[in-house]
Amino acid sequence: MSDHAFVRTTKLPGGEAVPVLGQGTWRMGEDTSKLPSEVAALRLGIELGMRVIDTAEMYASGGAEKVVGEAIAGRRDQVFVVTKFYPQNEQIDLYLLHWRGDVPLKETLAGFADLLEAKKIRYAGVSNFDVDDLTELARLKGGLERIVTNQVLYNLERRGIEWDLLPWMRKRHRPVMAYSPVEEGLLTHPHPVLKRVAERHDATPAQVALAWVIRDDGVVAIPKAADPKHVRENRGAADIKLTKRDLDELDESFPAPEGRKPLESR
Ligand code: NAP
Repeated sequence: MSDHAFVRTTKLPGGEAVPVLGQGTWRMGEDTSKLPSEVAALRLGIELGMRVIDTAEMYASGGAEKVVGEAIAGRRDQVFVVTKFYPQNEQIDLYLLHWRGDVPLKETLAGFADLLEAKKIRYAGVSNFDVDDLTELARLKGGLERIVTNQVLYNLERRGIEWDLLPWMRKRHRPVMAYSPVEEGLLTHPHPVLKRVAERHDATPAQVALAWVIRDDGVVAIPKAADPKHVRENRGAADIKLTKRDLDELDESFPAPEGRKPLESR
């Protein structure tokens, strides 16, 4: 890959570097006539350096995983694949428990241990875990060692995790994966403050919203974009460095949490 394709990285425990900007796939694979364009969008994103691809068996009942499979064929070694639920045939880089269910965490950890040992997955993680869940997990033998990330809802409109979850993860050197980083498209509409900040950077509101999510180390954003124009735009966000003035203005319109809030999810 050329230097042009390089996106800033963050480190997983153990030292492996992953790009702070990747691609989501929720709502891909639902309509087979869109397969070629969705595959093309993901490939474009990979070429532009957004090499983390997030999917799940649940998305389109396996349809999104098929799109990913096709998009990464012949370029598997360039991509960091994250999925949730059952592993497919190819090795998975990062396998997440989609949310906390009724299965005791101890059993999930044992399952992860088997998959790691069999080299079916390279890393394990969780999703939609609040601090209480993480604390419980960390108390179990081998709990924290095996879990390298927590994928949660995080964007300008939903800053709850900044109160306790984000600091908890940072203290333990585990990046957070931010899903719905443009609030499912909502933050791409012209909001007056986003627009003002965007104009100063000759950027779009979506780019500012994404640049904000990955403004500090330890966060990986996974925007979903099937439109190639959006893919290119999102890649551009990795090169935007927001200033203190930008951040102060954004804080005024999208205030930081002033107390603990239960984790939001979708
Ligand atoms: P999102 O990435 O915040 O928003 C996606 C929507 O925004 C799409 O409609 C997309 O349109 C549009 N968009 C993207 N970039 C844009 C741009 N530059 N300008 C204008 N519109 C833009 O929401 P999300 O899909 O909910 O979240 C991202 C990924 O996180 C998911 O795809 C999934 O992989 C993951 N996720 C995980 C969980 C979990 O429980 N772990 C939950 C939700 C999501 P086009 O497609 O038309 O380009």
